[in-house]
Amino acid sequence: MTGPALSCDDLPFFFDPLHTGVARQARTFAAAWQATESDAGAETRRAVAALAEAGLTRWCVPEKFGGAFVGRPEGIDVRACTLVREALGWADGLLDTAFAMQGLGSLPITLAGTDAQKAAYLPGILDGTRLGAFALTEPEAGSDVGALQCTARRDGDAWVLDGAKTFISNAGVAGQYVLFANADPAAGRRGITAFIVEPDDAGFAVEPLEVIAPHPIGTLRLTGCRLPADRLLGEVGGGFKLAMATLDAFRTTVAGAALGMARRAQDEAIARARARHQFGQPIMAQQQVAAALADSATELDAARLLVYRAAHARDTRTDRVSKEVAMAKLFATEAAQRVIDRAVQIHGGLGVTRGVAVERLYREIRALRIYEGTSEIQRVIIASQL
Ligand SMILES: Cc1cc2nc3c(=O)[nH]c(=O)nc-3n(C[C@H](O)[C@H](O)[C@H](O)COP(=O)(O)OP(=O)(O)OC[C@H]3O[C@@H](n4cnc5c(N)ncnc54)[C@H](O)[C@@H]3O)c2cc1C
Repeated sequence: MTGPALSCDDLPFFFDPLHTGVARQARTFAAAWQATESDAGAETRRAVAALAEAGLTRWCVPEKFGGAFVGRPEGIDVRACTLVREALGWADGLLDTAFAMQGLGSLPITLAGTDAQKAAYLPGILDGTRLGAFALTEPEAGSDVGALQCTARRDGDAWVLDGAKTFISNAGVAGQYVLFANADPAAGRRGITAFIVEPDDAGFAVEPLEVIAPHPIGTLRLTGCRLPADRLLGEVGGGFKLAMATLDAFRTTVAGAALGMARRAQDEAIARARARHQFGQPIMAQQQVAAALADSATELDAARLLVYRAAHARDTRTDRVSKEVAMAKLFATEAAQRVIDRAVQIHGGLGVTRGVAVERLYREIRALRIYEGTSEIQRVIIASQL
């Protein structure tokens, strides 16, 4: 395989010339990447180091700190990050998440951090020496994040955090956790406040979780976790808005990763349908197999149009584009699941064999319909805008 086809080549109307450069760079990187299913934490560290070496983490950090964002106070170039995730998702789901978490775990600092916080935390994201994490979900607050129960109270010069966070990507390997707690529970979501937690902070502990595909993830326990005052990120009570702004920027890129995974599955399915002979001819000559591939090709292109419409809108419009973004995430992740399932079917028994690309993709795609807003929550967002 020589790498994924580039969405900027056949959908040029959504892109500026700089995007073609980023996409080519990401494709070259993705085509050369050798994925392994060894320890997910070690593999993520290796992935982040390689992404930094290739200059791709530049797309997670503002220009002032050596990154690539130019003149975008709101943070990221969504089209660039979506193209990068499309290429990385084609190669390896863990590689894609490694990139995404450098962005998700640092964008709140880019958006709301003081100059001192930016200087302390962004260079490590850029050079890959610090892995990022974004800790919002709790055992009792998933889709309804406004109901989070983790508390923060002021004690002299310090903040003291208590509670738990769960399903936190990069738990145990991150060097910085942007974590959301409520500093004024009586005020509901208007009390939610962001903090930066470091792994060595007293009262902070990680319990690893194991999920369907390789992914460093775990539960965070905060027990009287004491933070110096300068770990407050943004304003007291500004956390909910900051979390939503961060997720809003990255949601389209999740859809980009789904496109990459689906495209890889389709590439593998076409290659298999040409190579595999049954009844004296390639299975591609069977109408039912060809029709499945045609359906996948069509759904994939429909998804690409929705995803890059949303990315373009997010980059160029100043009005609210939540509907376009939610449609892109909903359709692309659900379509990718169907495309990958068809690719497994076309591979027959080989498709469920460990070590085969479509089997890995079948496990990797599943979480994308759940994280950063489930498909059902995307429908709630779309309906609210109708
Ligand atoms: C691999 C992975 C990585 C993750 N990484 C992170 C991370 O780094 N940081 C982080 O903070 N979180 C992370 N998450 C958590 C993720 O964001 C949540 O799992 C997700 O928001 C759903 O929350 P929940 O699991 O509690 O499900 P619930 O909210 O309990 O939902 C259960 C079901 O009910 C449905 N439902 C709930 N409310 C409604 C509604 N109003 N209308 C219709 N249906 C509804 C949901 O769609 C879902 O089908 C990750 C999750 C996974 C799987």
